[in-house]
Amino acid sequence: MKSVVGFFAHPDDETVLAGGLTAMLIQQNIPVHLVCATRGEGGETGPSVLMLRRETLGAAREAELRCAAMALGASVEVLNYIDPTIGQDEVLRAFEVSLDTLARQFAAILHERRADLVLTHGTDGEYGHPAHQLVHRAVIAAVKQYFPRALVYSVAARVPTIEDDLWNQNQIAHFALDIRPWAAQKIAAMECHASQHELFLRKSNQNTVSETLRVVESVRRMWPVSDDEPPQDAFANLLRLIGAWSPES
Ligand SMILES: [Zn+2]
Repeated sequence: MKSVVGFFAHPDDETVLAGGLTAMLIQQNIPVHLVCATRGEGGETGPSVLMLRRETLGAAREAELRCAAMALGASVEVLNYIDPTIGQDEVLRAFEVSLDTLARQFAAILHERRADLVLTHGTDGEYGHPAHQLVHRAVIAAVKQYFPRALVYSVAARVPTIEDDLWNQNQIAHFALDIRPWAAQKIAAMECHASQHELFLRKSNQNTVSETLRVVESVRRMWPVSDDEPPQDAFANLLRLIGAWSPES
């Protein structure tokens, strides 16, 4: 693999879902370019000193994303979609764009980067987030139409032996990787996302950011659709080489 692009919906998705994989690829001298569709400006604001006012949240989260990308060793760009504010109903929403427009925009980035591997959200949007689902669908549409030779792996595929509410329940992982060799980079990236720390700690019932580290990251190949279980390709070979396992086998 020569070039990897990761497409995500909000700042912190790249780190929480694929920070270890990204640091691992960088260590293998494979450049990773992170693309974030929104600035996450619709996310939680609150009373903590680290929670920001609505007007400044987007700029702050973009800066946190750039800090995290640097910690992982990746390049990064932010698209200008607006993350809708979570309302009183707590319903999560996607940003506004047609699937076709987003797919063409993603295709242009893949072309510019000469990407041969794409990492992105899963079909379930992990815990059902519509913005994550939209990014997934646009990536598949872009690759099918314009880059059929690229590999697409979705992240946070379910590892049956590990309980985690982030897993895409409908997708079993082709590969799971213990990312502890890259924990320092992933924790440094998590530390960058200061506006999200309160949320990280509350959701995990932990006391420190480093305690919230997920030490297993997982992927499922989504393109080309894999008949083999697990697939054989350049990324699969790299994952095997560095000790990834296939949960079903
Ligand atoms: Zn997200």
